[in-house]
Amino acid sequence: MQQDESDQVIIVGAGPVGLTLANLLGLHGVQTLVLEKDPLTPDAPRAVSLDDESLRIWQQCGLLSEMRPFIAEGDEGDVVFTYRTRSGKPLFSMTQHGRPYGYARGNVFLFHRILDVLRTGLERFPHVELRSGWAVQGCVPKQESVCLIAVDDRGRRHQLETPYLAGCDGGRSTIRNQLDITLQGSVYSESWLIVDTFDPGLVEQPLMEGVEVWCDKRCPTASIPLPGGYQRWEFLLRKGSPLQDNSSDEQILRLIEQRKAPGGARVIRRLVHTYKASVAERYRQGRVFLAGDAAHLSPPFAGQGMATGLRDAANLAWKLAHVLHGEAASELLDSYELERRPHQVRMLRLARRMGLMMMPSMQIHERLVELLFGFAGRFSWLRHAMEIRGVNITPVYPSERSSDHKSKAGHLLIQPKIGKDQLLDDLLGLNYSVITFDRAASELTSNPEVDVWRRQGTSFVNLRPDGVTGEAFQAFQEWLGDCRQHLLIVRPDRFVLEDRSLNRFSPPDNA
Ligand SMILES: Cc1cc2nc3c(=O)[nH]c(=O)nc-3n(C[C@H](O)[C@H](O)[C@H](O)COP(=O)(O)OP(=O)(O)OC[C@H]3O[C@@H](n4cnc5c(N)ncnc54)[C@H](O)[C@@H]3O)c2cc1C
Repeated sequence: MQQDESDQVIIVGAGPVGLTLANLLGLHGVQTLVLEKDPLTPDAPRAVSLDDESLRIWQQCGLLSEMRPFIAEGDEGDVVFTYRTRSGKPLFSMTQHGRPYGYARGNVFLFHRILDVLRTGLERFPHVELRSGWAVQGCVPKQESVCLIAVDDRGRRHQLETPYLAGCDGGRSTIRNQLDITLQGSVYSESWLIVDTFDPGLVEQPLMEGVEVWCDKRCPTASIPLPGGYQRWEFLLRKGSPLQDNSSDEQILRLIEQRKAPGGARVIRRLVHTYKASVAERYRQGRVFLAGDAAHLSPPFAGQGMATGLRDAANLAWKLAHVLHGEAASELLDSYELERRPHQVRMLRLARRMGLMMMPSMQIHERLVELLFGFAGRFSWLRHAMEIRGVNITPVYPSERSSDHKSKAGHLLIQPKIGKDQLLDDLLGLNYSVITFDRAASELTSNPEVDVWRRQGTSFVNLRPDGVTGEAFQAFQEWLGDCRQHLLIVRPDRFVLEDRSLNRFSPPDNA
């Protein structure tokens, strides 16, 4: 057995969550090793939908421009989701509205190409290494470190030791199983046939439709057009359904043609998959953390499986970095599970509810879904409530520094545009930020406090009501009320740590 030198963080699993965490740790200068059991990027069908928060996290990774060709972002007013009857009659549509966090709320992407960009992104950092073909077999948490055993692509066993380990090794997580952490929740009784098609005639065409769902009790179906001529199809396999797990590609394409106009598509990958709705009883044991599917498994009905995993990565990365760099006490890491687990439980509830709409099981259920959508379409307030679902999925992390119920402490910072080509986060660094409105931070608080912030590498942003920051100032005016009365301290993951309402603060003592 070979004894390898120690890294500050070892990540098990190079899926989207492990790679995002590795890129963020790389930016923070943390010595990181990623171990991935598969020698190549896996080819199974995985996530296709992507929310605005995920895009913002990849913006922070500094990789969005490389990712753009593989992402189709919705435009204002685009139809992003349509529920249909079994015969295809539209029941209810949701449209794209607003970009509070800088991006459209509903987007689609090519999973495997994005994984490649995330992998290549690691090459920017001499202190981050990805070892493919390395399967982790077990880990033993100790008082001051974690020991793990891995087998490399030549079958050699290695023992590694690290101060912190992140188990991002997916739904069948070896790390979770090793630590005897159970998943709490349920497994759906029915399976889906997931099919990706490619139609060369659609390569150059812009995406005209969003997600479409046929609420058909015989064979609930979802179709998601993807960039570059690709398309995802998901068919629920039921007794009496026109498709079964062993259906031929020709049978699948025939059903696709019945749902939509005939095209020149061919099947490029397929999978029979049974979804789970479960969450690990805990996300942490000592120096080992679980993130992504290792910590929670979600059905895709709310499009939040990967998105919640990326939030885990964004939440954990800066905390690990700050503790390892000696900038924060290790207690900061306790907040990871406290913040992330309750949100995941909420997302699972949402996904289950949306699944009920998509998967009517009896005639009466199918009829009820039709009535509900018919009803929602007639009342603008209900329609609006369903369309702004994007706002409701954003987590709010309870904050001790929240001064009152109107405070934005614990909320994700909005991300308005700065001038024509920039977004607010482009002005914020990797560390904490202090945002003020029409006044410099030094005018609003004491010199010693500003000095401390400076030493900690805080970014200072003063948004003025005119010039390039005018639009952003206006957005904060709407978000905060009279924004001139606020000073925001923002965490590295862009959640507001403190919302100081200045009219309730004593004037700065700069004497
Ligand atoms: C059919 C399908 C459709 C989906 N659609 C959506 C969607 O539209 N939107 C959405 O947000 N989510 C969706 N999801 C969920 C989404 O794909 C997952 O949540 C996401 O891939 C999880 O990322 P991850 O990095 O946590 O885990 P994974 O993607 O599972 O990656 C884990 C990695 O760990 C590696 N690994 C495992 N064990 C070991 C070991 N012992 N040693 C070393 N490496 C190991 C694996 O090889 C893998 O590369 C879908 C999932 C499926 C299956």
